[in-house]
Amino acid sequence: MEAKPVVTRIAPSPTGHLHIGTARTALINYLYARHHGGTFIVRSEDTDRARSTKEFETEILAGLEWLGLEADQFYRQSDRTSIYKNHLEALIENGTAYVSREPSKQDPAVEVEVVRLKNQNKIITFTDLVRGDISFDTTELGDFVIARSLTDPLYHFTVVVDDFLSEVTHVIRGEDHISNTPRQILIQEAIGAQRPDYVHLPLILAPDRSKLSKRHGAVALREYQNEGFLPEAVVNYLALLGWSAGGAQEVFSLTELTKLFTLDHIQKGGAVFDIEKFKWFNREHIRRMSDAELIDAVRDFVPVEYRGTDADTNAVIARLIPLIRERTYTLKEVADGISDGEYSFAFAEPDYDTSLLKWKKDPDVSLALPRLKRAMELISLLPEMPTADEVRSALWDYAESEGRGEVLWPLRVALSGRAQSADPFTLIAVLGREKAKQRITVACAKIEG
Ligand code: GLU
Repeated sequence: MEAKPVVTRIAPSPTGHLHIGTARTALINYLYARHHGGTFIVRSEDTDRARSTKEFETEILAGLEWLGLEADQFYRQSDRTSIYKNHLEALIENGTAYVSREPSKQDPAVEVEVVRLKNQNKIITFTDLVRGDISFDTTELGDFVIARSLTDPLYHFTVVVDDFLSEVTHVIRGEDHISNTPRQILIQEAIGAQRPDYVHLPLILAPDRSKLSKRHGAVALREYQNEGFLPEAVVNYLALLGWSAGGAQEVFSLTELTKLFTLDHIQKGGAVFDIEKFKWFNREHIRRMSDAELIDAVRDFVPVEYRGTDADTNAVIARLIPLIRERTYTLKEVADGISDGEYSFAFAEPDYDTSLLKWKKDPDVSLALPRLKRAMELISLLPEMPTADEVRSALWDYAESEGRGEVLWPLRVALSGRAQSADPFTLIAVLGREKAKQRITVACAKIEG
């Protein structure tokens, strides 16, 4: 018999931000479906009307798209009330479920009508493709509620109906859903649905091995987006949280992961989320971007007040690219460096106290004046956009003879306005000859008062 085409789904509830755990589950479902040439479905599980919002749904879908996890189908449960109603009626009709009139949980004085499944009280054994056989005695579940009314079905019921109608072959989800599975299997049996294969993924843990939560730091995907993590890095790191490719290679693209992905290397134990490792992946993916891609990505992080036209901003970033590639883990670091840090000099005129120009061994700031003037003469001989090496060669002999700190300290401050910055050769290579001369002129004027 030919195997059925693979169908997987991610079923987020739009009751909060897209959690990185959900993003990981989505990714694994995507990889499995794509690896097998199957179908990947995104389903918005918005049956909890009080807590679900359009905003969260939009954010979740945008997050999945940002990661590149394109869905073949999308639907939302709130559009399918009549489908669930038909199935509930059929179950009531054939006696596998019944309407129960009972006191409301919220207010025992009020009587409500709920729909309960007639539990067969048996032991359910299902095979989890990662964990092997799992058995539950369902007796203790009793005749559990599957709908608050014919038009208000509960989560377990809608999941089963949807997976059945969508012909989902593999339910891949977090380990926290294992205990829901027996209930869902009882419902499947009642509606005559085939049982899908189950894959429960290990939980994502904090470094102390407790379940990762807000108190450990960011858990929403958008927080990582705002920090300047690249989608490629998020995909790469999340894929390796609980799964391994089997070899020594760690850095993968989504396409490579799709080719390699199998269920074999999913681990049973929890996967520890390590922010340092995550940053390492981000840096690796930053390094692999082309200059043009990196310039575009960085531009989105340039604070508005430092932005000129796109072309101007691109030109400044282009000159900073070697520096950025060398030391950046997240693009937010670049933004911070522009606002107040190592990259500010490239975007705004420095603002500093004249006394900062004084080299620590000099008794007086006035000694910096002739040195800055001599440095300016040497810089004037450079091409308009020199390389850092060209600047170094032009200044080195003079700095050696006059004293390195004596020359390079005031020069660096004149160019950057900061006690700490890149070396003056790099600063001039980024700023260009004319801008550098202009800043040195300003520094001289400050000293001359
Ligand atoms: N809506 C459930 C959740 O957000 C997912 C249910 C499932 O994957 O079966 O956790």
